[in-house]
Amino acid sequence: MANRTAPESLIEAVRYFADEDVATDFVANIRWPDGQQVCPRCGSIDDHYYLKTRRLWKCRDCKKQFSIKVGTIFEDSPIKLSKWLPAMWMLANCKNGISSYELARALDVTQKTAWFMLHRIREAMRDGDGNLFNGEVEADETYIGGKAKNMHFARRKRVVKGTGGVGSGKTAVMGLLERPRGSEHSLVRTHILPDTKQRTMQEVVRRHVAPGASLFTDQHSGYTGLAKDYLHDVVDHVSHYVKGQVHTNGLENFWSLVKRALHGTYVSVEPFHVFRYIDEQAFRFNNRGDTDRGRFTNLLASIVGRRIRYAELTGAEA
Ligand SMILES: [Zn+2]
Repeated sequence: MANRTAPESLIEAVRYFADEDVATDFVANIRWPDGQQVCPRCGSIDDHYYLKTRRLWKCRDCKKQFSIKVGTIFEDSPIKLSKWLPAMWMLANCKNGISSYELARALDVTQKTAWFMLHRIREAMRDGDGNLFNGEVEADETYIGGKAKNMHFARRKRVVKGTGGVGSGKTAVMGLLERPRGSEHSLVRTHILPDTKQRTMQEVVRRHVAPGASLFTDQHSGYTGLAKDYLHDVVDHVSHYVKGQVHTNGLENFWSLVKRALHGTYVSVEPFHVFRYIDEQAFRFNNRGDTDRGRFTNLLASIVGRRIRYAELTGAEA
């Protein structure tokens, strides 16, 4: 592998990962960066030998074999890494996402397979909770999905921002954005809201934002009372008068990216899948300072421990 250069573009990725041994090595190096394989069956460390012809490790402790796919989003998938990795490259880097139809054609798999792959990849894009946001933080709620895309834009803007919610077929989502601290760019996190009651919305804010932070929100009554714990400033949407730092423009920019993908690339998203598309957009947003290769590598680094089955995806099981 030493004489090969890691890919920088989609076409290079397709060529590079066409060799299943190279693809397996690449994933193994990211999964076990210190070169010590951990048996996903019994947890024993670096006590394995590699069966090169079968691309399997055999554990000396539990005597079981494992492939690179075990314990990752690829588990139980018959699709080769030579297709999985370019699919990840595309989803990590296509600004408006990629539909299952497009991916099916690109990889020569069925649409159903492509759909399943995309949802598994989105699972790896899901952000862990991580550190609380601090400094200057914007919070903004929006409504996604439903019939809004058939409306005239001006009306949609009013309706989507104003009412929506339960019964309208739309999903209420809270977004939080931490403005750049130091040289880094802003970061977002999103949270599906079961309702827009004060208690619910404030719980979400408190879960993601450190007490004492500067908090900028709109006039939704759900935010009233947060001044106890935050330096809370409310944006005046009616006059459109921006008072210095008091705005939620960062989040509005993010919502427009989400909605562009949902109205363009992803035309019919079930409400219970909405969060996956938002996670996908948030991943690209939060990694936007990186190169294509960097975003792909970051995504690949989070494949472990994330696995969803088809039944969970389709909602066939509770
Ligand atoms: Zn073992």
